[in-house]
Amino acid sequence: MSTFKAPKGTYDLIPPDSATYLAVREAIAAPLRNSGYGYIETPGFESVELFARGVGESTDIVTKEMYAFETKGGDRLALRPEGTASVLRAALEANLHKAGNLPVKLWYSGSYYRYERPQKGRYRHFSQVGAEAIGAEDPALDAELIILGDQAYRSLGLRNFRILLNSLGDKECRPVYRTALQDFLRGLSLDEDTLRRAEINPLRVLDDKRGDVQKQLVGAPLLRDYLCDACKAYHEEVRELITAAGVSFEDDPKLVRGLDYYTRTTFEFVHDGLGSQSAVGGGGRYDGLSEMIGGPALPSVGWALGVDRTVLALEAEGVSLELPASTSVFAVPLGDEARRMLFGVVTELRKVGVAADFSYGGKGLKGAMKNANRSGARYTVVAGERDLADGVVQLKDMESGEQVAVGVNEIVAELEARLS
Ligand code: ATP
Ligand code: MG
Repeated sequence: MSTFKAPKGTYDLIPPDSATYLAVREAIAAPLRNSGYGYIETPGFESVELFARGVGESTDIVTKEMYAFETKGGDRLALRPEGTASVLRAALEANLHKAGNLPVKLWYSGSYYRYERPQKGRYRHFSQVGAEAIGAEDPALDAELIILGDQAYRSLGLRNFRILLNSLGDKECRPVYRTALQDFLRGLSLDEDTLRRAEINPLRVLDDKRGDVQKQLVGAPLLRDYLCDACKAYHEEVRELITAAGVSFEDDPKLVRGLDYYTRTTFEFVHDGLGSQSAVGGGGRYDGLSEMIGGPALPSVGWALGVDRTVLALEAEGVSLELPASTSVFAVPLGDEARRMLFGVVTELRKVGVAADFSYGGKGLKGAMKNANRSGARYTVVAGERDLADGVVQLKDMESGEQVAVGVNEIVAELEARLS
């Protein structure tokens, strides 16, 4: 151990577990790649102001969780706490929305940072894969994203997750509801902080996780009963499209989510094996966000799925992914000359696309075979002085234990054939 440890609320991804993380990222991205989403990568930090405007001044993310700092040059920056504001900023900056083919569909994968109270499933550095469909108001687009998220989780073998769905209305009907909710909240016995929140952003009070607050919210007015006709029709269409796709969901009239920019469709993927950190992913429509960050009107929808919690969900369900062994062939040289020859064989194998590794450090046969076993390789190639003299190597099938001598000049072709 060194003097240093990973900072509080963070952890390292190390082999062999790290392979599962990579596979989860891939599995979430695969349905997106297959559905017209292009890959985007944005900086790990942005102007503080982008998040203040884009995520919302009154949200926990902006008021409590952001790693904000001032650079030597005097810029106010923050490590990105989420992806949507950055992706929209980048799309606007590159004028992607002007190319004439809306919606602009993008996916991303990366690290996000929030100064939170660390606990299982809640970290200060975590990883998300996300998707944004920018510039179209079409219930099929909302449905597409929900269906693709469902497909991603199913492809991983997850079963015990649920999709919660709600509509937050639009700039017509939400203000009316907001006022009604505020009137209701003012009549409750809430602490000062919560009362202040009720004045600034009353919908977020519905998201309060404390039991005594939830108890008082039982009779709260529901947005569902305030939706205007356009929002109602839109939501009904989303529900029908998802249902027709065979994806099950639950209507959750209290689902609001922690970011300010959502309008109409909002949804969350929750997993029942994760205790209080049950949300594995979430998203929704954010028709006003572009204008909030100084862009044109661009109705959009997106989601972000948490990689860390998805891995925990796999553990909770006891699902282990079938990961291909990272090494197919392991070479064991006995002596200097054999080392030179087998190193050449390994290089050749790698060139033709066979995953191969080598016993380094001049180990004896016993130690080297232990490494070969641990590597998970299907075949081991061993060569000693006598083999060299005969112009052969010993090819061992690690599954059957069978061993045959193969000519040095044939070994690469032989392994290629056996592994194809
Ligand atoms: P929560 O209610 O659990 O705080 P959130 O609403 O803040 O979640 P989002 O901003 O919607 O989460 O982020 C989408 C996903 O990213 C979450 O569903 C979760 O899987 C993951 N995520 C968010 N914050 C963290 C964190 N601190 N540690 C690990 N994963 C996180
Ligand atoms: Mg949060």
